[in-house]
Amino acid sequence: MTDRPLTGEPLALDLVNTEWPEHGRMLDYLADPAGLRTWLAEHEDEFGPVDPEGQIPLGPLRHARRAIRRALEEKEYGELNTVLAHGRLRLSIDGHGPAERPELDDPAWLPAWEAGRAFLDLVRTAPPGRVRKCDGPGCVLWFLDTSRNGRRRWCSMTGCGNRAKARAHYTRGQAG
Ligand SMILES: [Zn+2]
Repeated sequence: MTDRPLTGEPLALDLVNTEWPEHGRMLDYLADPAGLRTWLAEHEDEFGPVDPEGQIPLGPLRHARRAIRRALEEKEYGELNTVLAHGRLRLSIDGHGPAERPELDDPAWLPAWEAGRAFLDLVRTAPPGRVRKCDGPGCVLWFLDTSRNGRRRWCSMTGCGNRAKARAHYTRGQAG
């Protein structure tokens, strides 16, 4: 299992970031069962614990990943609405206080639906212009810029940031 180039972004972006190009082809972290389990476990807070014997919801997750990328890159929301149509929130209150519980038409859709819901939360809460794609040529990774000055450009300083620095250095060398 390869390491992912970027982790730790909000759920919706983190799902999009499970796919990236390497040596001219797209790698899919979720295609590897170990990768899929690791990713689900990383988001246990959002999905609840992963049932090791349970059905692995890869199809719905890939659907949601594609839908969120289209929403980000093309402002095209039809596919995402299809994902969201698989569930709804049930609101209630008892002695412990208010509660909201997702209800899915098929439990296999829960992680995909939660990722779609997280995208809506991101749209509601992220300051304008702070959800961006990495500036690296050919890079497909997305991040939420939480830096103070809002000038983050790269998925990571060790990846695209480093390559950009090397390019700038090379260009300066050529010019001098
Ligand atoms: Zn990048």
